[in-house]
Amino acid sequence: MTRPRKRFAQHWLRSEAILEKIIAAAELKQSDRVLEIGPGTGILTRRLLEEVNALISVEIDRDLCKKLVKNFGDRENFILLQGDILELNLNETLTDFPKFQNPHKVVANIPYNITGPILERLLGTIAKPVTPAYDSIILLVQKEICDRLCAQPNSKSFGALSVRIQYLAECESICDVPAKAFYPPPKVNSAVIRLRPYLRENKVKDPRHLAMLIKLGFANKRKMLRNNLKSLIKPDRLSPLLEALNLNPQCRAENVSVEQWIALSDRLLDMQ
Ligand code: SAH
Repeated sequence: MTRPRKRFAQHWLRSEAILEKIIAAAELKQSDRVLEIGPGTGILTRRLLEEVNALISVEIDRDLCKKLVKNFGDRENFILLQGDILELNLNETLTDFPKFQNPHKVVANIPYNITGPILERLLGTIAKPVTPAYDSIILLVQKEICDRLCAQPNSKSFGALSVRIQYLAECESICDVPAKAFYPPPKVNSAVIRLRPYLRENKVKDPRHLAMLIKLGFANKRKMLRNNLKSLIKPDRLSPLLEALNLNPQCRAENVSVEQWIALSDRLLDMQ
């Protein structure tokens, strides 16, 4: 077994049952072009290669890359890129390999220490969503992150991250994954999540305004929304707007659904 490196957040999946759940959640077709982030020792890589015509795996660790090349280098449906997923320009790197260009699915057991930046890389931001959007993104993440991404309003996990990501993608929890499903076991429990980015454009009149509104609204979670938004609009002018959206004027940011954030952003703009 290859010795895991802490620096790269390496935890090898060792549960066949979880592996099969990930594969099932990806609903793979032969014609799929799949991006895998952090193949590690290749447990998921091996299964993906059985399913699809084109797999692009990006691994930062040179020593692991050597082993992956040894094990899978001769497969026609495989390309391995050594590098940092956050730095790499995929399409530029793949110019000479048309078969592997524009992967439209992502299946990965990612390094947890860069979950946020990876999500931004795959989905973009409210102001600048990634285009073209991926069809689906299946990730192993910390359970806490999965809970936040799938949270509904009025629940403890519902926060700015929930709103930002749910604006960009439908989020679905596939299954919980106990720490012992990995070697070495991480300190936290994990979960498999499926994200389906939305294709629609211009969901909101001004995406930057919405992004700013969410940031301000959640700035102090204990405060009422109308107090957090004081710098934008006088609390007594905001109250009727909130009521029109079926919200209590005393509500907090965590009570406001994604659709209500969008409507609020549009209505505030109309008032200006
Ligand atoms: N998919 C494997 C390994 C998961 S551990 C399994 O399921 O067993 C996370 C993997 O991501 C490790 O192989 C680690 O080396 C790799 N990694 C860490 N940071 C990375 C980065 N910035 N870009 C690409 N790969 C990275």
